[in-house]
Amino acid sequence: MHLKTITTAVLAGSLLASPGWSQDDTEFTIPENQAATASQLAEAGLESDLAWDIVESLTTEIGPRLGGSEAEARARDWGVRTLTELGFANVRIEEFEMPYWERGELDVAIVSPFPQAMAATELGGSAATPEGGVTAEIVFFESFDDLQDAPAGVLEGRIAYINDRMVRAHDGAGYGPANRKRSLGWIEAQARGAVGLLIRSVGTDSHRMPHTGNMSRVTENTLAQGSLSDVAADYVRATYPDLAEAPARSQIPAIALSAPDADQVERIHRMGEAMEVSLRASGGWQSTTTSGNVIGEIVGRELPEEIIVIGGHLDSWDEGTGAVDDGAGIAITVAAARLIAELPENPRRTIRVVMFGAEEVGLLGGFDYAQRYADSLGDHVVASESDFGAGPVWRLSSNVSADGTAAMDEILRIIAPYGVIRGERAGGGGGPDIIPMAMRGVPTFRLEQEGSDYFDLHHTPDDTLDKIDPDELAQNVAVWAATVYLAAELDVEFRTADEQAGRD
Ligand SMILES: [Zn+2]
Repeated sequence: MHLKTITTAVLAGSLLASPGWSQDDTEFTIPENQAATASQLAEAGLESDLAWDIVESLTTEIGPRLGGSEAEARARDWGVRTLTELGFANVRIEEFEMPYWERGELDVAIVSPFPQAMAATELGGSAATPEGGVTAEIVFFESFDDLQDAPAGVLEGRIAYINDRMVRAHDGAGYGPANRKRSLGWIEAQARGAVGLLIRSVGTDSHRMPHTGNMSRVTENTLAQGSLSDVAADYVRATYPDLAEAPARSQIPAIALSAPDADQVERIHRMGEAMEVSLRASGGWQSTTTSGNVIGEIVGRELPEEIIVIGGHLDSWDEGTGAVDDGAGIAITVAAARLIAELPENPRRTIRVVMFGAEEVGLLGGFDYAQRYADSLGDHVVASESDFGAGPVWRLSSNVSADGTAAMDEILRIIAPYGVIRGERAGGGGGPDIIPMAMRGVPTFRLEQEGSDYFDLHHTPDDTLDKIDPDELAQNVAVWAATVYLAAELDVEFRTADEQAGRD
């Protein structure tokens, strides 16, 4: 080993041992009184029941609230009432129009060789079966990749089944790979002549609880990303010539089986038996409807035009009451902001709490927000969404300027006693509804939650209030209150020099 390599290794070791990742020449010190205020906020958060009260109210008084539904409209009114009663300023609803899909009746059964009913759910965007349903042979694919490798025509008049399992990981890293079959499986199946798609639920539980979730609408962008097989891409070009005006939607029913039911299909397949399945599904697209974002603010005392965006998404899937996804995120961010509002004076910058609408069905609230505020995104200092359940925060990651990174390292020292470590720089994705503004240059951070169990419940009827641990919820509030207060108060620029000069 050369001396230079040894030195590098030693240096790397010492860097790893340091609490943060800021560059050596960038230092930041949090003034003592602000550090003390942040710690007091965190302590108050640990003691506060407010987040619990909010998520209890939302999940009890509204319940399931699918994006675009009448229930989601009631949730917006609930949001306005809640923010107003808690003393937020500039409380408002910002409405937008959206395509609306609604679940119908569903029957799924194995017809042969071993007749029995299956626990299943329609995926968002699924088409109805013809009157009377369809009965067809299953073609078993071990994985989404295997389906993508299959030749055209192989599924003519048959039903595709995709088996791959989601890997359990505490940061949810298994979700992306497993979710391809849910988002794009329909187009790969339909392109090969299938009359239906069945998938193993995208989830990590072994209960008889199927997981729903949105299917992607295929656009020119999907083609450009190269995420479809050649068979599917060619089929899309031939079948949906007006992709720019109207994205491609599924013409076949697409259905998720619960994990034990998927195991059943897998066992029968391994026995070498041909399997026939009957499907009867009536969900489908309805006429255009209205959704909206609900907003409330704590107006900055010195720099009111500079905005810190935090929030969660107000909509949920329709089968549970959306407690962990994402009533918890709404509750955590509203409660944290409310604690900050109780300080003797507002922080220097404005804290804007956004309850995003219609996230589950395509981040529609996030896209509407980024478009509506396109001209003022340069004044958005930093943004973050809580949307990974109600487990404790364990890591702070951020994607901000060098100065901002040094400040985040110091913020970490204040929240570290609550069980938080520093995550990677540029690892702070910000959350799903933040993506559209992050794509336009808004810096982000993320208070990452322990989520080993999150995908046991995610998008199932089992996503209900009893799954939330009040102490873990309060830990979230503690960490969010301290972090957001400091982001709004500290004299630090999270945006990069380029971003301050203006965006494209
Ligand atoms: Zn969510």
